[in-house]
Amino acid sequence: MIVVILRERYFAFALKVVDVIVRFKRATEKMFLSWEKWGKPEGDIALEKMVSRFPRYLDHPSGSVRCGAGWYPLVWDLCTAIEAMEHLAMPRIGHFKAEERLGGLFVRIESGSHIVKELARDTEHKAAAICSECGAPGSLQLGHGFAKTLCPAHAKKRKPQKAKPVPISAELAAREPMLLFLDTEFTDFDYPQLISLALVSESGEIYYAELANGWSPEGCSQFVTANVLPQLTGGDFFQERSYAKRRLAEWVSSLAVPVRVVCDAPGFDWVLMVDLLGDTFPKNLYPAPIHYYSESFPGLFELLQKAHAEAYNEFPPHHALHDAEALREAWEVMKEHLHPAILKQYLKL
Ligand SMILES: [Zn+2]
Repeated sequence: MIVVILRERYFAFALKVVDVIVRFKRATEKMFLSWEKWGKPEGDIALEKMVSRFPRYLDHPSGSVRCGAGWYPLVWDLCTAIEAMEHLAMPRIGHFKAEERLGGLFVRIESGSHIVKELARDTEHKAAAICSECGAPGSLQLGHGFAKTLCPAHAKKRKPQKAKPVPISAELAAREPMLLFLDTEFTDFDYPQLISLALVSESGEIYYAELANGWSPEGCSQFVTANVLPQLTGGDFFQERSYAKRRLAEWVSSLAVPVRVVCDAPGFDWVLMVDLLGDTFPKNLYPAPIHYYSESFPGLFELLQKAHAEAYNEFPPHHALHDAEALREAWEVMKEHLHPAILKQYLKL
């Protein structure tokens, strides 16, 4: 117990010493070096600026930073402290990695120094109380498929809003809706930000957009970086979020009949689509999607797998438009096999 207490005191003291060294270093840099180039900027820090200031720690392949901009000042301070200690003859650190994961900041530094490890731990703890988007005081926010440390303003803004349960209007209820098969690609499961969205109607009309903003390559999981980003079509499909939103609302409205979305991951696809539509939710769109749940029909599993595989003969998966088309193919197969009375009930779920 005493050892633990002494250890804690030692580290607390060591961190204070490092702090003094950093302050001294900053003051001398301010006097002798161009502050523009070397000093920590006030307010927002651009990632490129931080990486070019500490290339040996943060640039590939010796290191990497993958977190929200709100945490960049913490990373900057950590790098300043390590640099100061290296100037005081501490052996150079090895690989450096700062990564946002499951709502927290994980800092891994290859170093034999206990002080460096303690500095990293201290940075991680500070991050748990700071909005990773803007640097304001924050706390852990949880949602469906979502964990992130955010300030109240960003928690409200960035969390995809669930569809409000709206009673179906008489117009919508009057006739069978046309189905729209939906698929989306998004940054990662912890903090899904929409990258691309596709809708394919039963009669073959298509909406497809890739978003130019609202997400960043740094926020993508390894899987998405390897399998989704290389497949993006680009060109005219690459659109500002506000433009894609307007086009989506117009496209759905232009179908001029009641429509209902089918998707296989409503917790993501539907939530992200509703989030994109925001205040422009079309009147002819059903307020809840149909969950295509192939696992419910083990008897159809092989056939559905085959339909999926055939759909991917031409293109690999993980492109929203191809996935939406594959979903439509699989749905057709399912429709052929289900009893009409069962299908009717399925469509009412
Ligand atoms: Zn914030």
